[in-house]
Amino acid sequence: MLNIGCHLSSSKGFKHMGKEALTIDANTFQFFSRNPRGSKAKAVDKKDADGLNEIAANNNFAPILAHAPYTLNACSSDEGLREFAKNTMASDLEIMEYIPNNLYNFHPGSHVGQGVDVAIEYISSMLNSILKEEYNTTILLETMSGKGSEVGASFEEIRSIIDRVELDHKLGVCLDTCHIYSAGYNIVEDLEGVLEKFDKIIGLERLKAVHLNDSMMPFNSRKDRHEKIGKGTIGLDAIINFINHPKLSHLPYYLETPNELQGYAAEIKLLRENHN
Ligand code: FE
Ligand code: FE
Ligand code: ZN
Repeated sequence: MLNIGCHLSSSKGFKHMGKEALTIDANTFQFFSRNPRGSKAKAVDKKDADGLNEIAANNNFAPILAHAPYTLNACSSDEGLREFAKNTMASDLEIMEYIPNNLYNFHPGSHVGQGVDVAIEYISSMLNSILKEEYNTTILLETMSGKGSEVGASFEEIRSIIDRVELDHKLGVCLDTCHIYSAGYNIVEDLEGVLEKFDKIIGLERLKAVHLNDSMMPFNSRKDRHEKIGKGTIGLDAIINFINHPKLSHLPYYLETPNELQGYAAEIKLLRENHN
């Protein structure tokens, strides 16, 4: 069975998202850990979180994916912004303990002119200061498109971050299909070659989640514009090929396509029908 869901709004709480996922035949979902612009997380309602845990257990949900605010930059040149990213993520990881054994994804960040090496140092030292052995969450680094000075558009950069983290068994990778195609990994013409590279450089066992998006932009454009499934430059055939690949078909997939709930429902239906 295909494990698939989409990005959902968390404004009505944890349990509501679980119920909403069920209405669109999803068996997982993604949500923002907090408002991307704002900074404050709501106090956790334990009953609400338990409500979601119960729905997830009763419906065989794949891991749920919390996404850190994309405005955080753990490798900013501004110390205050680095601190803010660290404190926000540390607090998010505490909140994740209310919905244990799930995933937390973040964008490595943008080096804003300091260079990749400095950035990798900042990102890994942030992870070293916030990760705790007792946490029950796997933290994922997202593969990026490489727009601006984004870090994490190459498998090598992701690997160097992981290499510098002490509790690296807590780390995994979230592969965004739109981003890697923009970053120059040709999943349309050469999925096998891309997976070989991923395996050699990062290790396929680190791959824990997929953001499944088509792209509005051409291959290797280093632009980040998500498109609806089958309507973009990646196309339906390549996407179907991807979700059915024997090394990928077990993974949880999260749609971040430009859709309302009904559009997501239609994409989930289409992908389920085309999953072997
Ligand atoms: Fe993301
Ligand atoms: Fe993404
Ligand atoms: Zn994106």
